[in-house]
Amino acid sequence: MVIDPVCKKEVDEKAAPGGKARFWGKVIYFCDKKCRATFQRDPQKYVPEKDGEKEPGYDPRMFLGDM
Ligand SMILES: [Zn+2]
Repeated sequence: MVIDPVCKKEVDEKAAPGGKARFWGKVIYFCDKKCRATFQRDPQKYVPEKDGEKEPGYDPRMFLGDM
Protein backbone atom coordinates (compact mmCIF):
# COMPACT_ATOMS: atom_id res chain seq x y z
CA MET A 1 0.00 0.00 0.00
CA VAL A 2 1.09 3.53 -0.67
CA ILE A 3 -0.27 6.84 0.52
CA ASP A 4 -2.23 9.12 -1.72
CA PRO A 5 -0.44 12.41 -1.05
CA VAL A 6 -3.55 14.48 -1.63
CA CYS A 7 -5.90 12.95 0.90
CA LYS A 8 -3.41 10.76 2.81
CA LYS A 9 -5.48 7.65 2.27
CA GLU A 10 -3.92 4.31 1.60
CA VAL A 11 -4.02 3.19 -2.01
CA ASP A 12 -3.25 -0.21 -3.47
CA GLU A 13 -0.56 0.54 -5.99
CA LYS A 14 -1.57 -2.44 -8.12
CA ALA A 15 -5.12 -1.19 -8.50
CA ALA A 16 -5.15 2.51 -7.78
CA PRO A 17 -8.70 3.72 -8.52
CA GLY A 18 -7.47 7.19 -9.39
CA GLY A 19 -4.59 6.03 -11.52
CA LYS A 20 -1.08 7.23 -11.12
CA ALA A 21 1.16 10.10 -12.03
CA ARG A 22 4.88 10.40 -12.34
CA PHE A 23 6.56 13.27 -10.63
CA TRP A 24 10.27 13.83 -10.15
CA GLY A 25 10.94 10.21 -10.96
CA LYS A 26 8.50 8.96 -8.39
CA VAL A 27 5.28 7.24 -9.22
CA ILE A 28 2.39 8.49 -7.19
CA TYR A 29 -0.91 6.68 -6.86
CA PHE A 30 -4.32 8.11 -6.19
CA CYS A 31 -7.47 6.85 -4.54
CA ASP A 32 -9.64 8.83 -6.88
CA LYS A 33 -9.37 10.70 -10.17
CA LYS A 34 -10.27 13.86 -8.31
CA CYS A 35 -7.17 13.44 -6.15
CA ARG A 36 -5.04 13.01 -9.23
CA ALA A 37 -6.51 16.15 -10.79
CA THR A 38 -5.87 18.04 -7.58
CA PHE A 39 -2.33 16.77 -7.50
CA GLN A 40 -1.64 17.67 -11.11
CA ARG A 41 -2.86 21.18 -10.57
CA ASP A 42 -0.24 21.76 -7.90
CA PRO A 43 2.10 18.79 -7.55
CA GLN A 44 4.76 20.61 -5.56
CA LYS A 45 2.30 21.17 -2.79
CA TYR A 46 2.01 17.43 -2.22
CA VAL A 47 5.48 16.09 -2.88
CA PRO A 48 8.40 17.29 -0.82
CA GLU A 49 10.94 18.97 -3.00
CA LYS A 50 13.17 16.41 -4.74
CA ASP A 51 12.39 13.95 -2.03
CA GLY A 52 15.51 12.01 -1.11
CA GLU A 53 17.65 13.29 -3.94
CA LYS A 54 19.53 15.74 -1.79
CA GLU A 55 20.34 13.09 0.78
CA PRO A 56 22.81 12.12 1.88
CA GLY A 57 24.29 15.52 1.38
CA TYR A 58 27.02 14.93 -1.12
CA ASP A 59 29.69 17.56 -0.91
CA PRO A 60 32.79 16.91 -3.04
CA ARG A 61 34.83 19.08 -0.74
CA MET A 62 34.62 16.50 1.99
CA PHE A 63 36.95 14.24 -0.03
CA LEU A 64 39.63 16.83 -0.53
CA GLY A 65 40.91 17.16 3.01
CA ASP A 66 43.90 15.49 4.65
CA MET A 67 43.65 11.76 5.05
ZN1 LIG B 1 -7.16 10.52 -2.49
